[in-house]
Amino acid sequence: MTRHTTPDPIDAAAWFVAGQPGATARILERHTAREDGSCAGCGVYRPVRWPCVLVHIARRAKKISSAADKDAPPGPKRWAWCGRTAA
Ligand SMILES: [Zn+2]
Repeated sequence: MTRHTTPDPIDAAAWFVAGQPGATARILERHTAREDGSCAGCGVYRPVRWPCVLVHIARRAKKISSAADKDAPPGPKRWAWCGRTAA
């Protein structure tokens, strides 16, 4: 039942975050669990259960970054990691 032709939006977001220097760390610093189980970085108007979608994205971005060449400088090369080009 899995549609392989449709890109996973979480995966696409993770690739984007992985390409932004420091973004993964910033997300993980801000989106921490509160005592009530909600996310400290989300839910200004409505509580969001932790881990929120941004934590999932950041965790996946971390895996992408660690799998990629760690010494690669940020730049256009990052877009080659995902095998996609901007439209
Ligand atoms: Zn959050």
